[in-house]
Amino acid sequence: MPTDIPGYTRALTAARAETIMGTPTVILRPGRDASLRRRHPWVFNGAVATLRGQAAPGDTVDVHAADGQWLARGAWSPSSQIRVRIWTFDPDEAVDEDFFMRRILRAVAQRAADPWLALTDGRRLVNGEGDGLPGVVVDQYAGVVVFQFLSAGAERWREALLQALRAATAGEVLYERSDSDARGREGLQTQRGVLDGTLPDPLVIVEGPVSYRVDCEQGHKTGFYLDQRENRALMDLLGRDARVLNAFAYTGGFGVRALAAGAQSLVQLDASADALAIARAQLAINGLDEQRVEHICANAFQWLREARRERRRFDVVVLDPPKFVAASSQLKRGTRGYKDINLQALGLVAPGGWLLSFSCSGLVEPRLFQKIVADAALDAGRELTLVRWLHAGSDHPVSAACPEGQYLKGLLCRVH
Ligand code: SAH
Repeated sequence: MPTDIPGYTRALTAARAETIMGTPTVILRPGRDASLRRRHPWVFNGAVATLRGQAAPGDTVDVHAADGQWLARGAWSPSSQIRVRIWTFDPDEAVDEDFFMRRILRAVAQRAADPWLALTDGRRLVNGEGDGLPGVVVDQYAGVVVFQFLSAGAERWREALLQALRAATAGEVLYERSDSDARGREGLQTQRGVLDGTLPDPLVIVEGPVSYRVDCEQGHKTGFYLDQRENRALMDLLGRDARVLNAFAYTGGFGVRALAAGAQSLVQLDASADALAIARAQLAINGLDEQRVEHICANAFQWLREARRERRRFDVVVLDPPKFVAASSQLKRGTRGYKDINLQALGLVAPGGWLLSFSCSGLVEPRLFQKIVADAALDAGRELTLVRWLHAGSDHPVSAACPEGQYLKGLLCRVH
């Protein structure tokens, strides 16, 4: 026990000291404890002074301030910039099978009681830090539960997490999609495949008035952009009789919803032919007429310019590009990208029409995004009014202490 640290012994009751004697301990550098005290769940490499004891990747460590005060308990991740991801800020809470059972059951119970989810069977069940489980993402598509374990700590507790998931979602197909880049940063290999049951083909979810096909084996994320559910619902109101452009359509989510609401015409624009093939299939399963729809496989940066030259007009334009900024070094370039597509898109909106413009880059903060879109309007010679800020749905909760979880932001604008 490191009794050489002032205050260390004072900070512990005798009983607690006994239970954690064997726990390896991370000591922070002086002055690096403020974010943990505010319950931000990440400890960066640069904040760590030393690790006392032995810890394998994913092992539970106690985190102490430089003066020895106990701060939190989390998962050690030696290859990641985020060296510790916190499981608990309660000194009396053990990290064991029961811990994961409690957290998973709580997360799943919250979704079951969530009024925003009443009309869908596609939902996020566990949203990482937002559900007190850093590195754990679980999505449900009808009878299929797809999980991603994205941190060393999640991987370490794999069996406990799976046991809890099986208990919380009895009888479902269980599919692993632990293949995000985040795994590599945590020193983990990618893993995917069925654990329980057989995947239905096709896999279809209901979202309000429409159904969507989901490809959880090859699709983006775990198969579908569940985070846009509440924003797609805006199409019920805006899509009626409208000429709709759904740019960066992926499998056509916004567009199909607009068409179901009675859109006059729809352009589904995406660079991926595979995604557009699914977008086309979405029409058939919804009994929608393909005659009102153009599926265009093109680079949006070019297509938007051409459409502008051809003086095409739309009443509603949705811009939902991929993450342009994945690291601070890409901020300048990404900002230019966002500005460019917004500028081009604004040139296509009929007077009085709507622009729904999104960014899923966590590093582009809401204020900056608003400024980018405002600058684009200035250059496009259009006046914009901001009608709503948009964000991910209620099944993507964000810890109030960890704003990094709030990556998706959007602006609903009236274009004059
Ligand atoms: N709005 C969608 C999600 C969009 S994901 C939904 O609600 O489901 C981003 C999409 O942008 C991907 O499908 C990707 O293929 C597409 N994309 C990426 N770069 C592109 C480009 N330069 N031009 C057109 N589409 C692009």
